Amino acid sequence: MSGGFREASIDLAAIRRNVQQLRRTIGTEHTMAVVKANGYGHGAVPSAQAALAGGADWLGVADVTEALELRAGGVDAPILAWLHEPDADFGEAVAAGIDIGVSSARQLRQAADAAERVRGAVVDRPPAFVHLKLETGLGRNGVSPEDWAAVCAEAAALERTGVVRVRGVFSHLSNASAEDDNRALDRFDAGLGVARAAGLAPELVHVAATAAALRLPRARYNTVRLGIGIYGLSPFDDADSASLGLTPAMTLGGRIAAVRRVEAGAGVSYDYTYRTSRETTLALVPLGYAEGIPRAASNGGAVWVNGRTYAVAGRVAMDQFVLDVGDAEVSVGDAAVLFGDPATGVPAVEEWARAAGTINYEIVTRIGPRVERRYVGR
Ligand SMILES: *Cc1c(COP(=O)(O)O)cnc(C)c1O
Repeated sequence: MSGGFREASIDLAAIRRNVQQLRRTIGTEHTMAVVKANGYGHGAVPSAQAALAGGADWLGVADVTEALELRAGGVDAPILAWLHEPDADFGEAVAAGIDIGVSSARQLRQAADAAERVRGAVVDRPPAFVHLKLETGLGRNGVSPEDWAAVCAEAAALERTGVVRVRGVFSHLSNASAEDDNRALDRFDAGLGVARAAGLAPELVHVAATAAALRLPRARYNTVRLGIGIYGLSPFDDADSASLGLTPAMTLGGRIAAVRRVEAGAGVSYDYTYRTSRETTLALVPLGYAEGIPRAASNGGAVWVNGRTYAVAGRVAMDQFVLDVGDAEVSVGDAAVLFGDPATGVPAVEEWARAAGTINYEIVTRIGPRVERRYVGR
């Protein structure tokens, strides 16, 4: 990469191709691209546009604020938001045509109230479009199975008055094991039966995120919600991006900010957790934990410089860390790549995740605001 001082280069063509590839493999009628948390650190609006260009027909985000940011960025595709503040006012969501994931009777009423208020204000009277979420064993949100029949009945009554339209029914899996997920799907199928018996006819039925969409065909129904996969990363420990036909979209790098020659036995970075074993060259990389580079990857993560890969020497600090590059020719201004598409010879984000004891999702999502995003492949 040519690169800036601290830069995440995002390949939008890779996101488009990843969506196409996943759609070929999965084959559901609808594909919801999940672009919450700033598109897993890749930028929500550009990632959403690339995913739509690749064939996604829905977008998913955690909260309504994120959905409104997409609308403000000019995205007019259908959007679902599913995690709400306790006293949520869904007025803006209804007015902006954002579908609301409903995890309780209270949220259903909040959505209906918002639609009533919007109905008072505009001529063509949009209902609140909702997706009812059933809790099937993840232990997060969702209507509990005991309350499900009552919530479905209330939703059906609200549908008859025109104030609410139940566009979807959904749930989310633990990925703990095939047995656990199959048990959750049994509960979901039962819940879907209850919803239909109450008179609901959801257009979208969705349970699977990337992992289940790829490995548990039963979980596909007619819609999948794909997050990590569209960014070209694998949700699995035992399969990398390439084996899934995916290309990592983010390349994270910077420019070497300082180079110095030191003697054997020199301490490096805070606490001297690394000492040079011989005379060597140290190169300073200007990204630190403020950029989301985990301090836990001190003495662990790998960085590509001029065609070779070096481990982090010593502690990752707030703004920077050091590489021991031996006798290699490295100069101030040379490009350093922390991770990208390993097919190009740079480290995979999974190497950083392993060094920090976490998952690829967390590494890309935490990339901080001092890192400039540069978009290629538009
Ligand atoms: C984040 C999220 C997804 C996407 O998950 P991936 O594993 O990234 O594909 C799907 N559904 C819900 C409810 C989520 O919170």
